[in-house]
Amino acid sequence: MSGVRQPRVVIIGAGVSGIASAITLRRNGFDDFVILEKGSDVGGVWHWNRYPGLTCDVPSQVYQFGFAPKPDWSRVFAPGAEIQRYLADVVDEFGLRPHVRVDSEVVSAEFTGTGWRVETAGGQVHEADFVISATGVLHHPARPAIPGLDEFTGDVVHTARWDDAVRTAGKRIAVLGTGSTGVQVVSALQPAAERITHFVRSPQWVIWAPMWLPQPAVVGAVLDRMPALNRALHRVGMAGAKAFTDVVTRPSWRRRAVQEYARLSLRAQVADPKLRAELTPDYEPLCKRQVLSGTYYRALRARNAELVTAGIEEITPTGIRTADGRHHEVDTIVLATGFRAHDYMRPMTLTGRAGISIDDAWAKGPRAYRMTAIPGFPNFFTVLGPNSPTGSIPLHHAAEVTARYITAWLRRWSTGEFDTVEVTEAATDHFGDQVGEALQPTVWNTGCNSWYFTEGGHIDLLPFDRRTMEEMLAAPEDGDFHLTKS
Ligand code: NAP
Repeated sequence: MSGVRQPRVVIIGAGVSGIASAITLRRNGFDDFVILEKGSDVGGVWHWNRYPGLTCDVPSQVYQFGFAPKPDWSRVFAPGAEIQRYLADVVDEFGLRPHVRVDSEVVSAEFTGTGWRVETAGGQVHEADFVISATGVLHHPARPAIPGLDEFTGDVVHTARWDDAVRTAGKRIAVLGTGSTGVQVVSALQPAAERITHFVRSPQWVIWAPMWLPQPAVVGAVLDRMPALNRALHRVGMAGAKAFTDVVTRPSWRRRAVQEYARLSLRAQVADPKLRAELTPDYEPLCKRQVLSGTYYRALRARNAELVTAGIEEITPTGIRTADGRHHEVDTIVLATGFRAHDYMRPMTLTGRAGISIDDAWAKGPRAYRMTAIPGFPNFFTVLGPNSPTGSIPLHHAAEVTARYITAWLRRWSTGEFDTVEVTEAATDHFGDQVGEALQPTVWNTGCNSWYFTEGGHIDLLPFDRRTMEEMLAAPEDGDFHLTKS
């Protein structure tokens, strides 16, 4: 490497974006970094989530790093445990383990004037020139504030913190929530449950897809021997993902076709008019994060299953009382109630230049220039931060592109060109305006409520296609930043 100094970097989080960042640093000759991970292992969302039925509904051939293609996925849509193993294997293969500190939750990060002082819950202090925050979007489980929940005498488990000690076979189970998680967990628990009741506040469109489809071993063997073919398959997957981005960001016949398929998925699988009416959302398909399943409607039609759409009034010590006066006796409550998706680094105390806190900087909601730089926080970057394309572009790719962009800044720092880099308010506002305008025709903006919305009513997604994202992050634009040198 031609640099004259090595930046010290703290990466917070060892999930997809933290791993992408670390490997990108290494590939560019930057080795002085530590990855602080709150959990007991790497993998991020795939470490924390291990509820029954967990499967990725993005095809594995695009749900992987471009620099670490895995030829031999067991299924077209890989199960959660296999993805977690893949991420752990990548960490080993690229020699990241010595850099990873597990069980190291960051409680504070403070800008010192030229760099950062990062402290963990265990009291370790790390001095760094740069911080890369890779803390994820779907991290903090949302626990509903339902009266009586704490007085329930049976088991209560949130899907994002599954407890293997909780027995579900032969039990009367209540599942709350009908996002991707609720649909998967109902499908998985129904066969062995004595009774399963799905409490649905707002039904979701559920597109039929064969999530169980195996990837034949011979395909893995061929792809293993022919890396060029494997790369070609990845490119085909990325092209498919591009078509999906187009569907969600612009109205077209393609969007209407997918929406019609969603409606057909319901019509074809649910013949009972009453059940079908209860399962019909009052918003357009694709408006919320689309749910895929080939088993959910079948599970609901089973003799031991019931759909309840009456609102939940309270939870009693032995069950759930709904607004129609019914009391549903249950042994176990499964909370598939999603995440506080916009907390990002919080609750850590993050203090930037002149003592500004992230809570003050984000008083009107999370904002970042091109998903990665925050005014007031020099030498600090996020990967899969605010407005990341969680609903449209393959995430590993978005993380890799952002990591390369950050590394471009580090390269310039290493040559002594500057000591601190901070994005301007004006550039961040301009990016926010571009996003706001491009969000107008997206399907996310067609009249539903979802975790995509911040408390301030903004849609926290990237409404651009992959090419535009890559152009935005191709190289630093100096006019958008303040650079200082002491
Ligand atoms: P989610 O989509 O946010 O769904 C949460 C569900 O809980 C909603 O149905 C919501 O109802 C309900 N809910 C929340 N509070 C409630 C309350 N107090 N009473 C009754 N219902 C309540 O969460 P998720 O299903 O965990 O999925 C989050 C995201 O994780 C997905 O969109 C996806 O991006 C990702 N995910 C991906 C996969 C995969 O296969 N790749 C699998 C699981 C999750 P309302 O709609 O009425 O608010």
